[in-house]
Amino acid sequence: MLGAGMANPDVIVVGSGFGGAVMAARLAESGAKVLILERGPFWGADDEPDRRPFPRGVRMGGALRNVWWSKGRRARNVTINRQGLFEIHVFKSLWTMGASGVGGGSLVYANAQADPRDDYWDLFPPEITAGEMRPYFEKATQVVRPQILPDWKERQEPLKSALEVSGNGSTAPVNLAVTFTKHANETEPGLHTEACRMCGECIMGCRYRAKNTLDRTYLEHAVHHGAEILPLSEVTHLGPVGDGYRVRWVDHATRRTHAAEARRVVLAAGALNTMRLLHQSWRDGVIDRLPETLGQRFSPNGDYINLIWKAGVEQAAPGAVFNALRDYGAANDPYFIGDASAPTTALPLPGKMRRDLDASRFLFVMGADNASGRLTYDGHGLRFAKGRSMDREFFDGADRVARELASHYRPEGLRTNLPFGSKSESLATFHIIGGAPMAKRMEDSAVDHTGQLRGHPGLYLSDSSVLPGPPGVPPSRTITAVAERIADLATD
Ligand SMILES: Cc1cc2nc3c(=O)[nH]c(=O)nc-3n(C[C@H](O)[C@H](O)[C@H](O)COP(=O)(O)OP(=O)(O)OC[C@H]3O[C@@H](n4cnc5c(N)ncnc54)[C@H](O)[C@@H]3O)c2cc1C
Ligand code: SF4
Repeated sequence: MLGAGMANPDVIVVGSGFGGAVMAARLAESGAKVLILERGPFWGADDEPDRRPFPRGVRMGGALRNVWWSKGRRARNVTINRQGLFEIHVFKSLWTMGASGVGGGSLVYANAQADPRDDYWDLFPPEITAGEMRPYFEKATQVVRPQILPDWKERQEPLKSALEVSGNGSTAPVNLAVTFTKHANETEPGLHTEACRMCGECIMGCRYRAKNTLDRTYLEHAVHHGAEILPLSEVTHLGPVGDGYRVRWVDHATRRTHAAEARRVVLAAGALNTMRLLHQSWRDGVIDRLPETLGQRFSPNGDYINLIWKAGVEQAAPGAVFNALRDYGAANDPYFIGDASAPTTALPLPGKMRRDLDASRFLFVMGADNASGRLTYDGHGLRFAKGRSMDREFFDGADRVARELASHYRPEGLRTNLPFGSKSESLATFHIIGGAPMAKRMEDSAVDHTGQLRGHPGLYLSDSSVLPGPPGVPPSRTITAVAERIADLATD
């Protein structure tokens, strides 16, 4: 039946972002029949007729998929366009944004690839150490193939001078999951990218196949090994049956519902959607019990986003979103810093606004907040009450760092903690972490070190929900490496 996918899969993967794509690729490579269910469409370049073109200019109207609004008496979802690219969650004091489509967050991320410090792994179960994780980071590098921004030395100004003058360390070459120099062997699966045109539109999706997104890397590898991807297939429930699990989904193309069973299921719908799916399945009696620790160690990755309005220093030419990153590994204070530009050519902006934004900079400050947040479920959707109060000292410190560094850009204006302002209790983030954490002690964890949900062997979680705390850097590389480890143990 159309939209029902392959018969008798060994593994069903829910969600095709970092956690799902890695698991799908590695399990398919090991010989398993893998079915991937993804709620969003295939996105692609303008000359790929079988893919949906990324929203741009006048096509921007359809960009928003849905908004989860959790501020009133009960959470509710407003769906705007099921084929839209972005999803927004509005909690009491926290706003988050993610993506929908084959490739998940990789479609819109700013491509920054950064490793956490070694002591990050102290939060994890004793089986997981910095040394044990190194080969998994190496595997991630081989597939994602980050390259150093070619003109990073020029672009690192003015962050470099700001860091030096303030005594806050120095910058590092920017590793981005982008093809700046074309790969030698294009016949190998997963190498179908083109050279970057430095248009700087990365966070609206790449129109030129230059981002090494998951659909062009891990997922292509999965398909090469027989995996099947069903786009526009939104999972609504999953629960145990026999010696495996049954997954139900709705096909948004035909509006039909389908179900399939497999001995192993990988839940990788992104931290918030993974959490909601588990609660929804429990509410409707499809899954009988969930670990009490579910919802814990939820964190916005210490994100603190700032706009340096019309910097008085010389600007880099338009190009990749990230211009400079602070050498976080070498510094001892808790803040990772990134200098980024806006994707102005992709946005329908009046000329003056475009010129002003081109002269401005976003300063991303992030780091290891204390991950003391707890997500709950109100029978309809997720709730989260905290914002800055989660770790006031950390976020106030981020504000001080942003102000100090921004002053060296000699800006006309500065707005810290976008979009709310420095006095606000509310925060915004692109990097949601935790909720179904691995933890040092088994009794504090929701999944064990192999990624299986406690009490549910064969039900794997492999996305950002399993991280017990923020890696303190943009998290996709850490998620990828942890998923590589989960996949490695699952294929033994
Ligand atoms: C604008 C932006 C810029 C960013 N820049 C960076 C960066 O430079 N570096 C970095 O490391 N990180 C960056 N991130 C963060 C990064 O994208 C996320 O941390 C990462 O994508 C999370 O991976 P994941 O596997 O947890 O989930 P996701 O990548 O979010 O994947 C989840 C997938 O599951 C699908 N899904 C959800 N619900 C269902 C369902 N019910 N049924 C089927 N499918 C479902 C979703 O559509 C999605 O494709 C950025 C994020 C944004 C939004
Ligand atoms: S700068 Fe432009 S061409 Fe290069 S990866 Fe980003 S969106 Fe693609």
